[in-house]
Amino acid sequence: MKDKTAGTPGEGRGLLTVTKDAIALTSGQVAHLQETLLRWYDSCRRDLPWRRTRDPYAIWVSEIMLQQTRVDTVIPYFERFMSKFPTAMALAEAPADDVLAAWSGLGYYRRARFLLEGVRTVAASGGSLPASRDGLLGVPGIGRYTAGAIASIAFGQPVGLVDGNVARVFARLFSIEEDMRKRGMRTAEALADRLVAPRDPGGWNQALMELGATVCTPRSPSCEVCPLASVCRARATGRVAELPFLSGKKAPLLRRVQAIVATRPSDGAILLARRRRELTFGGLWEPPSAEGDGPAEARARLQAWVPVANLTRVGSVAHVLSHRKLTVDVSRGLLAGAIRANDIPPDSGYDAVRVVAVADIETLGFSTLARKILAEACREESECPTPPGTKRRPRT
Ligand code: SF4
Repeated sequence: MKDKTAGTPGEGRGLLTVTKDAIALTSGQVAHLQETLLRWYDSCRRDLPWRRTRDPYAIWVSEIMLQQTRVDTVIPYFERFMSKFPTAMALAEAPADDVLAAWSGLGYYRRARFLLEGVRTVAASGGSLPASRDGLLGVPGIGRYTAGAIASIAFGQPVGLVDGNVARVFARLFSIEEDMRKRGMRTAEALADRLVAPRDPGGWNQALMELGATVCTPRSPSCEVCPLASVCRARATGRVAELPFLSGKKAPLLRRVQAIVATRPSDGAILLARRRRELTFGGLWEPPSAEGDGPAEARARLQAWVPVANLTRVGSVAHVLSHRKLTVDVSRGLLAGAIRANDIPPDSGYDAVRVVAVADIETLGFSTLARKILAEACREESECPTPPGTKRRPRT
């Protein structure tokens, strides 16, 4: 059946915009987002035990366990807990000591106590969880996020949810400048309800969380394989590393870097430079890059020793190190002359250069950042020299 919310063809392609006072999205943009993300989720989702059921009680338990805890850690606890207390009634009748013993090692034991209190309240009123978000909010221990998860995943209710992953995705996708611990959170919650896909609310919410957990990660988002990259405002404006804005967090240093991917016109071999051993990424190879007071100055520093013609900016990648957030502008060009180790300036950060044939590229060591730069440089091409393990964003 045709989606009645869909706009005219191509309408969903523009960058997404949220202003301080309004969520200015067209129905075409919303439909494009929903279809793109749901399709991605169908093909990329992780198989997790709580995703094999729509039992509201099981989803409730999983959501409580997942708060502040990694998925890998939760899986065995969830499976043991569900085999010991398979229903809300079984849990409600269990002694608190047994419940805490089953939770032992998972940490944040208040969660277990709240879960037990909530389950006992539900059991006392007949044993069924309410299906609506508002009804669920009346159960002790269930907050807005958990209520949204249960209502949408178990009951198919068209309500959104915002956890840390979703907040980060929204902050970047829409370039939300507000503090995501304050007003930004309210903007994200309004967006979550506005964007929820009516044909599969639970799938949509899980897809957003999955994107935040596996692609739009806090430190090194993999924009090159992100299904929403073509409409992401932070990516288009080179602000991925700066968002989300979170008050009270010590701000890492923001650095803008220029990188040049230069290839030999005759055979496509690529110019690579080796980082000095004492520096970050020491001993690894990468396309030459430089920092400067501004993009123009950094590019000029590079071009002073990298002989390159037809230089064109092709995009940017974000990368987070422990105390620095990097935004790397990637330019492509053609190698326009020979280059020797003696040509490398001492302050460039490199101690060797090579023009490497495509067939030999996998013999060298690369950092994740170098892989991202190479993938960004050639994402419009069917063949290009990228080291093994490089994720490439498909052409859109
Ligand atoms: S393009 Fe990058 S920043 Fe934007 S949503 Fe995707 S992973 Fe996040």
